Amino acid sequence: MRLIMKFGGTSVGSADAIRQVVEIVRNEAQQHQVVLVVSAMNAPDLRTTDTLIKAAHAAVAGEGHAMAEIAPQLIKLHMRAAASLLTPAECNALEPELRILFDYISELSRSISILGELTPRALDLISGQGERCNARLIAAALRSAGMDSVAMDATELIITDERFGEANPLMDETQARTRQRLQPLLEHHIIPVVTGFIGATRSGVTTTLGRGGSDYSCAILGASLDADEVWFWKEVDGVMTANPKIVPDAHTLPALSYIEMAELSYYGANILHPKTVRPVVQRQIPIRILNTFNPEHSGTRISADAVPGTAKAVTAIGDVSIITVGGPGMLGTPGVAARIFAAVARAGANTLLISQSSSEQSVCLAAPRCDSAAAVAELRHELTSDFSHQDVEHIEVLEPVVIVAVVGSGMRGTPGIAGKVFGALGAEGINVIAIAQGSTENNISLVVAVNDGDRAVQSIHRVFGM
Ligand code: ASP
Ligand code: MG
Repeated sequence: MRLIMKFGGTSVGSADAIRQVVEIVRNEAQQHQVVLVVSAMNAPDLRTTDTLIKAAHAAVAGEGHAMAEIAPQLIKLHMRAAASLLTPAECNALEPELRILFDYISELSRSISILGELTPRALDLISGQGERCNARLIAAALRSAGMDSVAMDATELIITDERFGEANPLMDETQARTRQRLQPLLEHHIIPVVTGFIGATRSGVTTTLGRGGSDYSCAILGASLDADEVWFWKEVDGVMTANPKIVPDAHTLPALSYIEMAELSYYGANILHPKTVRPVVQRQIPIRILNTFNPEHSGTRISADAVPGTAKAVTAIGDVSIITVGGPGMLGTPGVAARIFAAVARAGANTLLISQSSSEQSVCLAAPRCDSAAAVAELRHELTSDFSHQDVEHIEVLEPVVIVAVVGSGMRGTPGIAGKVFGALGAEGINVIAIAQGSTENNISLVVAVNDGDRAVQSIHRVFGM
């Protein structure tokens, strides 16, 4: 098999964590072709990417030496891990490489502070430097453990557009480049350790794929190399039936479909963003979510296959506002809904849930609480004349509320699921404020008061025996 495996920042955040990674790779590389994608080191007391970004902002605010000041700490973080993982020769070779990387961005930061301008392009150069350090460290750790490995900057592999800070891959060019560079290594049983997060434009300027972008890097490489599977090593045993902090007997789901994964990640199960894994989902490459710190656990396998079962998981997102626009003039007037949602979009608010009953007396939508004030202001502006004609009578906001989502593809066409959900809530005396279910029936979402959120999740988990 050909496996592309990504290790997140905490999974590579210390010498002990990297030692786990080395053992995992040793195991898999005996039977499979393996490519690693790594994030920057996330140590409990020093988060590399955050620290770099902070220093860049300090530089533009006039602290020209900010980067030069944090550089020794970051070098120490990497070299401390190196000292316990690498042979002395590897250690000696790594340190000057790291110095060159930091000297470069320290120089750059001085210019930023003189110019008083931090462009997204310069920020990408700085913020992606942690991945470059870590790829070098981990490749050296693999070599020190007797494996053949090389560090590889994804600027040589992932070609992107010029949207600095949130670049999009140009897949055809990326695929050609990746195959040309990585295929020969894999054929010679050499393990490439590729930087997550970064790419480069056609002309070779470094870009980043957005915060948390290493998952995206992994999916892009998995798709480009036609991987048999793509594995995401995280700090959890896979996708769970519910948040274990709320439901103590929540457990890992052994298998999920892509559709279910997308529904779950949307509703707060902080696993994989659908956009991030689109490249592998399009090619129907199976995904696994595994735990670096519990590698014996088989985790969750996510694929195109339907997985038996109806309601599989229940999640909740808090800090949400419900905005209701209502009035008699909304009945049978085309275009009102379009104007409402356009206004909310103009306010930059993300609509999380929509519900309108067929009596058309009101439209209700949920948005993150931090966006609700802006959304309401924009709605009042948009609907000024409707108010004066009394077509629209009120805009009400209820906050904070919680959206609870019950997810599972098997709910489709199975009668009685909604009855069971609402029966469980009724038995608990929980009032439901709004309800939404799309016709795909993969997800039933409901809104409850903030104090009822945990109990709603618990009772739904219980009634379905999840
Ligand atoms: N290091 C980058 C970040 O913190 C990318 C990643 O970890 O996925 O956003
Ligand atoms: Mg990360």
